[in-house]
Amino acid sequence: MYVMCFFLNKRSTMNEVITPVLNNIFTDIQRIFDEQRANQFIISTAKERKAKIKKLHNAIIKYREAFHEAMYADFKKPAIETDLFDLFPVTSEAKHTGNHVEQWMRPKKVKTPTALLGTNSQVKYEPKGVVLIISPWNVPINLTFGPLVSALAAGNRVMIKPSEMTPNTSRLMSQVIKEIFEEEEVAIFEGGIDVATALLKLPFNHIFFTGSPNIGKIVMRAAAENLASVTLELGGKCPTIIDETANLNEAASRVVWAKYSNSGQTCIAPDYLLVHEKQKNRLLNLLELKIKELYGSTENDRQTGDSLGRIVNHKHFLRIKYLFDDAISKGAKIVCGGHFDEADNYIEPTVLTNITDEMELMHEEIFGPLLPVCTYSKTERAIQVINSKPEPLALYIFSKQSKNTTLIVENTRAGGTCINDCTIHYSNPNLPFGGTNNSGIGKAHGIYGFEAFSNQRALLKQNSPYGTSQLLAPPYNDRI
Ligand code: NAD
Repeated sequence: MYVMCFFLNKRSTMNEVITPVLNNIFTDIQRIFDEQRANQFIISTAKERKAKIKKLHNAIIKYREAFHEAMYADFKKPAIETDLFDLFPVTSEAKHTGNHVEQWMRPKKVKTPTALLGTNSQVKYEPKGVVLIISPWNVPINLTFGPLVSALAAGNRVMIKPSEMTPNTSRLMSQVIKEIFEEEEVAIFEGGIDVATALLKLPFNHIFFTGSPNIGKIVMRAAAENLASVTLELGGKCPTIIDETANLNEAASRVVWAKYSNSGQTCIAPDYLLVHEKQKNRLLNLLELKIKELYGSTENDRQTGDSLGRIVNHKHFLRIKYLFDDAISKGAKIVCGGHFDEADNYIEPTVLTNITDEMELMHEEIFGPLLPVCTYSKTERAIQVINSKPEPLALYIFSKQSKNTTLIVENTRAGGTCINDCTIHYSNPNLPFGGTNNSGIGKAHGIYGFEAFSNQRALLKQNSPYGTSQLLAPPYNDRI
C-alpha cells in the first residue's frame, strides 16, 4: 500500500490506480487461459510429469523457512504446524505420486464380452485439459500444491487462485510457481472474489475447489455454465463419538491435539463430541488436563507459548466469539478456557458442556478452538444426532467394541472415518480423501487425485472384418 501511495500523483485517486492493476490481471487471465488451451494437446510423458512434480517438491524444501515466516506473519502459525500440516503433506504426496504416476498413466486393458468378439478394449488416461484450482487459507500450501501435484501427474495445464486471507503465503506461493513453471504450464493469480469470479467464467475442463459449502455452491453453479467437471473439497461439522467402552486417556489426548492444532481451523478437526453419559465427567477432567499438558498450565502460558496460532482475521475472530456468546447465553457451561483477546485474534482452547440443539454452534461449522461436549445414553441416539445434520467430511469413533463401531459406520455416512483416532486418515495416500454431499464431491490424494484430473477415455479397436455390429444391422425382417 505504501509503495502504491508513493506513486500516486496528487490528482490520482486510489481507485484509478487499482482499476488498471485489476484490468491487467483480467487481461492476463484470458491471455494465459488461451495460451494454455492452445497447448493442451502437447501431452507430457511420465518422465516430464515426474520432473515437474520433483521441481515443486524441491522448491518446497528450498523455501521451507520462508514458508514458516509467511505463515507466521499471516496468523502466527507455529513452524512445526506449517511443516506437519502444509509442507510435509505436499512433499509426501509428491513422492508417492512421483513413484506411481508411470503405472497410473498406463492404459488399462479390459475384458471383451462375447458379443464383441474380435475387438479389444482399454481405458486410456488422458489429461482433462486446462484446469482451475481454488484454495482456502487454513492449510494454504497443502491445499494449493497438493491438488497441483495430482493435476500435473494427470498431465494438465493449471491455473490457480489461492486465498486472499493469507496474503504473505499466497505471495510466496506465487513467487515459487513463477520461478519453477512457465505460465503456459502453471499460472497463479492472487486476489479475492473478483479474481475468482473472473476465472470461473472461463470454460475450464475441470475445477478443483477447496473451501466452504456455500462458496462450493457458487463454484458448482459457475462450472455448470460450461459443464466443467468439479471436485469440491468442502467443510462441515465432524462429529466424534466416545462410547462407554472407549479408552478415555487415549481419546482425550487424540481429540485435544486434533481439535486445537491450527487453533481449530482444520476442516477435519473434531467439531463436537458425543460422549456416553457414564464417561462424561472423567472425559471432561481429562480434556482439561491434556490441554494444560499440550499448551501450558496457565491462561498466560497458553497465550504466550509458541504452540498456538491465531485466528486468521478479525472477521473470523468475531464469528467464533458470536458462537461462544450465543452458547453461553443459552446455558452452556465453560469446562476450561473461554479467554478471548480481540487485539491479538487469540482464542484460548475452550471446552463447553450443557449443550443444547438451540445453540448456533451445533449448526454452523465451528472452525475454531471451541469444543462442545454433548452426551448420549444409547448409541442409536448418537447416530440420530449425526444424521440430523448434513453429511460430515469426517466422523470419529472411540470404542473398544466392534459391535458399536460397526453399528455407527453402517448407519451414518461420512467422507472418512477413523476408529480410535482423529484426522490421521488424511495422511494415508492410499485412501481417497474428500466428503460426501454437503462436505464435498469427488476425491483427492494419490491415485484418486490423479483420476479426478484425468479423462478416462474408452478405447475399443475392431480387429475383425466381420464385426458383430454388422450382424445386427438392418434389414431386420430377415432375422425374425
Ligand atoms: P471459502 O469458501 O471462504 O474460500 C475458499 C476460496 O474461495 C478462496 O480462495 C476464496 O477467495 C474463494 N472465494 C470466496 N468467495 C468466492 C466467491 N464468491 N466466488 C468464488 N470464489 C470465492 O473458504 P475458506 O474460509 O478459505 O476456508 C474454510 C472452509 O474450507 C471451511 O468450511 C473448511 O471446512 C473448508 N476446508 C475444506 C477442506 C477439505 O479438504 N475438504 C480443507 C480445508 C478447508
